[in-house]
Amino acid sequence: MRLDQKKVYCRYIENLSLCALSTAKGMELSMKRVTERFLKYIKFDTMSSEEDTVPTTQGQIELAKVLVEELKIMNMKNISLDENGYVMANLPANTDKVIPALGFIAHLDTSPDMSGLVVNPQIIEDYNGLDIQLHKENNIVLSTKDFPELLNYKGKTLITTDGTTLLGADDKAGIAEIMTAMDYLTNHPEILHGKICIAFTPNEEVGRGANYFDIEQFGADFAYTIDGGPIGELEYENFNAAGAKVSIQGRNIHPGSAKGKMVNAILLAQEYANQFPKDETPAETEGYEGFYHLTNIHGEVEKAELRYIIRDFDSTSFEERKERMLKITGRLNEKYGHDTFTIEIKDQYFNMREKIEPVKHIVDTAERAMKAVGVVPDIRPIRGGTDGARLSYMGLPTPNIFTGGHNFHGKYEFIPTYAMEKSVEVILKIIDMYSKA
Ligand SMILES: [Zn+2]
Repeated sequence: MRLDQKKVYCRYIENLSLCALSTAKGMELSMKRVTERFLKYIKFDTMSSEEDTVPTTQGQIELAKVLVEELKIMNMKNISLDENGYVMANLPANTDKVIPALGFIAHLDTSPDMSGLVVNPQIIEDYNGLDIQLHKENNIVLSTKDFPELLNYKGKTLITTDGTTLLGADDKAGIAEIMTAMDYLTNHPEILHGKICIAFTPNEEVGRGANYFDIEQFGADFAYTIDGGPIGELEYENFNAAGAKVSIQGRNIHPGSAKGKMVNAILLAQEYANQFPKDETPAETEGYEGFYHLTNIHGEVEKAELRYIIRDFDSTSFEERKERMLKITGRLNEKYGHDTFTIEIKDQYFNMREKIEPVKHIVDTAERAMKAVGVVPDIRPIRGGTDGARLSYMGLPTPNIFTGGHNFHGKYEFIPTYAMEKSVEVILKIIDMYSKA
């Protein structure tokens, strides 16, 4: 830690009215602990599984148990680990002032896309701005050409993989950041705050993190997932999402005598897929643009099936997209005969914006908290979903805040320790702002 950073911390502490009770050094030490914690948590292999296993993969439970022990040492209250693998705990308010109950959530599992077994992190201090060799024999390099954002972290400490696994910053950085913030608060009872609720959830990476989330037990009025990417990220908009299954009934006849009789379901599938605008696919869209995405096609002459996902930020055009699929199906049925095409559309999740807007102060406060600790907020729509989106529709408005990590789900994943420290500061600042509001 350099001197100018120490000054920032001191100023931060003054803001929290702590200067008399704590030193900049104390703050600095507890911030450093976020890295220690992170390095401890990534040792657990918590790779998610697509299998319908409940509770979940055993590694997630192992990590959950360790977190429970740490929460006990911190003297957090109402600590629980349920049979589905959800860890919950809270820190009761220490003032009579009416303050909303705030929640902070991170997930235990890592992506099934890449192994998280035996993660060997490399710690690069005072990063020199050059390419970083991750794995010598396999010539795996984290290059500034492919990842120019590396250059933002010159002089900082980076944690990378050894090129054989993912790192697990998604979302063990989030867990480490929440734990460090709670550790700080429990060690500084003089900081006044409302009720703080925390949760660590299983199976987020396979889209099931909200399935058994007990909002009532959690006890927060609203929450933040600490599950975003690079420093500054703040998200409260995501896709509306649906999945569609199109089944096609063909008619198989011996090809030698098929004239006028055979209906080849594979060719009909091809015709169906050709009905969509060519520029409305994931590969042709960005920002707020929606799409139709053909994810799977299989079939034979007799039967074929197409799978789509439909995504749009705007709820009206989301409905129009689904409507269009129904129309295409209807039109082709007119051409080939009733019931040749059948379609099933299922909504998957919705844009949380609708649920966040009435309590927009939660986003505004996060934005102000970032600015107050010297982080430039980067508010952008998520081209996907989050557990927070589902929780928002379950009654717990939950925007998403950065962890500080980059290149999630693969071997190029890395995180600057500085960004993790900033995330802890943002969490503490949000708590502080609500207690003073
Ligand atoms: Zn995540």
